Amino acid sequence: AAEAFSADVVIVGAGPAGLFAVFQLGLYDLRCVVVDSLGHAGGQLAEYYPDKPIYDVPGHTVIGALELVGALQKQVAPFGPVYRFGERVDRIAARTAGGFEVDTDGGTKLTCRAVVLATGGGAFRPKRPEIDGLAGFEAGGSVMAVFDPTALAGHDVVVLGGGDVALERAIAAAEAAASVTLVHRRDDFQAAPALVVRFRTLVAEGRTRLAIGRPVGLEGVDGRLSGVLVRGLGVEQRVAATRLLPCLGTDLDRTGPAAWDLDASDGRIPVDPASFETRRPGIFAIGDGALYPGKLPLILCGFHEAALMAQAVRRRLQPRTRPILPYSSSSSDLQRKLGVR
Ligand code: FAD
Repeated sequence: AAEAFSADVVIVGAGPAGLFAVFQLGLYDLRCVVVDSLGHAGGQLAEYYPDKPIYDVPGHTVIGALELVGALQKQVAPFGPVYRFGERVDRIAARTAGGFEVDTDGGTKLTCRAVVLATGGGAFRPKRPEIDGLAGFEAGGSVMAVFDPTALAGHDVVVLGGGDVALERAIAAAEAAASVTLVHRRDDFQAAPALVVRFRTLVAEGRTRLAIGRPVGLEGVDGRLSGVLVRGLGVEQRVAATRLLPCLGTDLDRTGPAAWDLDASDGRIPVDPASFETRRPGIFAIGDGALYPGKLPLILCGFHEAALMAQAVRRRLQPRTRPILPYSSSSSDLQRKLGVR
C-alpha cells in the first residue's frame, strides 16, 4: 500500500516564495504543509514593511505588503495547504524508505517526498519576554504563540508590546475576550496612527486597558496562568490574565540552512537555476534563500523560481506523467481545482 506521508511536499517558510510554491505545486496535485517560525504568513513583508506599498509586483501599479500576503493566501487556499505556524524547522533527514523526515522545534515530525526551502533571510523568532516561570506557562498552553482571536473567547488576555502587532492583537482580542490589557513600558506607541487611535478609543470605551510598566512575574498553577504582575510608575499591580500574548518583535535566526548539509553560507543555499534543486536531491530552495548566478532578492524572482521548482518536483515525484504545462486561462482541469468552474 502507498505510504501515508504528512504531505507530498514540506515547504519551509511562508513568505511570498513559499506561499506561491503552494500554487505551483498544487497544479500537479502535490499537497503541501507550510511551516514557519512566525505566527503568521508573510515573511519579510509582514515583519519589516507591513504598511508599505509595493510598486514592482507585475500587474499591480501598487499593492500593500500585507494586502499581497492576504491575496497570495487566498490564491493558494483552493489547494488546501496545511500551515504550521510558530514552529522552526531544525532538522531535515533523508529516510531509508525514501523521502524525508522534517523535525521542528515544536516536536512535530513531518514526512514528505520532497522539501522546498523558502527560508528567505532566515527564521523570524518572536522575542520571548524575560519573566521567571514563563516556560511552564508556555508548556501549559497559556502563552499564545500563534494568534487566533477565536480561541480567546472568555479569556482575560494580556498583550505585551507597543508596536503595530501588539496594538492589532489587543484590538482584535477585544472582540471576544472577557478582558484585554496591553502592557507597555510607556504611554506612547511605535505603531500606525490609525491603530493608535482605534486602541485609545477602545480604552476610552472601557473595552481594553493600558497598564504602563513591564511584566515582572506570573501567577497560576500547573501551567495555567491567572495573573501577570506589572511594575511601572513606582507601583506594582496584578493584572488578571489567562492568556499571555507576547508581541515584542522578532529576532532573525540564520542558522538553519548551515545545519542541513547544503553548502549554505550566510543562509543562502546554492541551487541549480534550471531546477532549483540543492546539492541534496529532493531538497529545493527558492526565494531570497536561494543562491545562483544573477539572483535578485525580489518578490517576483521568488514567483518565477517557484514555477521552475514545481516542474522539477513534478519530474521527480511523477516521472511517468506527461509534462503538461496547464495554462490557467484555458485549462478546465486547473479551473476545476481552483473552484471557478
Ligand atoms: P521571506 O520573506 O524572508 O520569508 C521567509 C520565511 O521563512 C520567514 O517567514 C521565516 O520566518 C521563515 N523561515 C526561515 N527559516 C525557517 C525555518 N528553519 N523554519 C521555519 N520557518 C523558517 N521586494 C520586492 O520585490 N519589491 C519591494 O518593493 C520590496 N521592498 C522591500 C522592502 C524592505 C524594507 C525589505 C526588507 C525587503 C523588500 N523586498 C522587496 C524584498 C522582499 O521582501 C523579499 O525578496 C521577499 O520577502 C523574499 O521572500 P521569501 O519568501 O524568499 O522570504
